[in-house]
Amino acid sequence: MWQFVGEIEYECSKCSFKDSIPVEDFNCECIGGGERSMGNENIFELSYPFECCECSNDIELTFEVSEYPVNFINFIIDKCSGAKALNEPDVEYVREIYSARDLFELYESIPELVTALKFEPELLAELDPRQFEEVTAEIFRSKGFEVELTKRTRDGGKDVIALHKDKLGIKTKYLIECKHYAEGNKVGVDVIRSLYGVKNSRNGGNVGIVVTTSTFTSGARDFVENEATTNLDLSLADRDQLIEWLEEYKES
Ligand SMILES: [Zn+2]
Repeated sequence: MWQFVGEIEYECSKCSFKDSIPVEDFNCECIGGGERSMGNENIFELSYPFECCECSNDIELTFEVSEYPVNFINFIIDKCSGAKALNEPDVEYVREIYSARDLFELYESIPELVTALKFEPELLAELDPRQFEEVTAEIFRSKGFEVELTKRTRDGGKDVIALHKDKLGIKTKYLIECKHYAEGNKVGVDVIRSLYGVKNSRNGGNVGIVVTTSTFTSGARDFVENEATTNLDLSLADRDQLIEWLEEYKES
């Protein structure tokens, strides 16, 4: 799909006054077309009638545009009157997004990727591990955390670092480990234990969180309940929790 963009510069043919009109202000109408050998042709008319602000001359900036074959601009005819157009409308190709799947494939920013997942959580399975880290970071960012993605080289199992400042100005540092696992592949206690170790090290953090597209083994849950110093030290976010966060997600 495409759209008209840019500005049309014109020069009044009576007083030579120059100015420009954004193409988005023009009326755009399909005025005809028909079946041709390579499919449909559509003829559009872009027009903007007004009076010259210097001499009140009647000006009509008009262009006839042929789209043929579909999605291609075949030609543009200048039909302006009362002024000379100094350029033609520009054409910009735009993404055609009709579904979460399209957005997932054509996203241009991480917030768009998260939005696709919000509407179609099944697509979580198709993320690569780095995208999953970026999605997780974006979820925390949207909830007011200051986030940092750690480099690809592993430094002791933390993918995202999130800082949260509470109402008293006190900061809490969250170390977030992202595990993009297939649904049946549960995150085991080893992952939790090693994150716990990093959290408790110098330059560690206050809370460790493991976020997964899967679930956790009972051993992993047991570690949080019984082996960590308190069960507030570690938090396990499974697929259901993740989907809940996605549902709450608002681009900000
Ligand atoms: Zn004029």
